[in-house]
Amino acid sequence: MSNIPKSIENIGELFSKFPGIGRKSARRIAFHLMDTPREKVIEIAKAIIDLKDKVKHCPICNYMTEDEKCSICSDTKRDEGIICVVEDSMDVIALEKSVSFNGKYHVLGGLISPLDGVGPDDLDFDGLLKRLDNVKEIIVAINPSIEGDTTVYYLNKIVKNKNIKITNLARGIPIGGDLEFTDEATIAKALENRTEIKRDN
Ligand SMILES: [Zn+2]
Repeated sequence: MSNIPKSIENIGELFSKFPGIGRKSARRIAFHLMDTPREKVIEIAKAIIDLKDKVKHCPICNYMTEDEKCSICSDTKRDEGIICVVEDSMDVIALEKSVSFNGKYHVLGGLISPLDGVGPDDLDFDGLLKRLDNVKEIIVAINPSIEGDTTVYYLNKIVKNKNIKITNLARGIPIGGDLEFTDEATIAKALENRTEIKRDN
């Protein structure tokens, strides 16, 4: 039998499933909650339920929104002719921090990874294809990795016959480095120095 109270273990178990939180941190959160005033704990629980009830994916780009469509898709001052394709919403936040991009985004919702059973149909390529009518450039902002490269290869293939320039972020971003953890200046530089992806037609 464990000497740790069941409720603490329970929270520990639940929170250890969160990204970046191991069993030890999860228990630490549980201890912290134990000493947090009841009203504050209710506020936290309510905030989590609120998030679940209110935040959804934008039907156009898949970024997060509490409205019908996201603030970026709604912004008429942004250039509809350039779409930056990213893996997830965290990448949009990272790129927005750099304040150097004024186009739109498309969040794929993951990367192609046959080993994990993730194929092209599991990602929103269809949504992207529907948006390409007036698009002149697609910027690929996907972290280099086997899965990333496979995804970019597939993306190239499906837009091959369209008259759209496909560019890659310049490699200021460390290999295997996450956009999320890259500073604003490096992202801005990588956007500015983006290069066209060579395609074999
Ligand atoms: Zn959107």
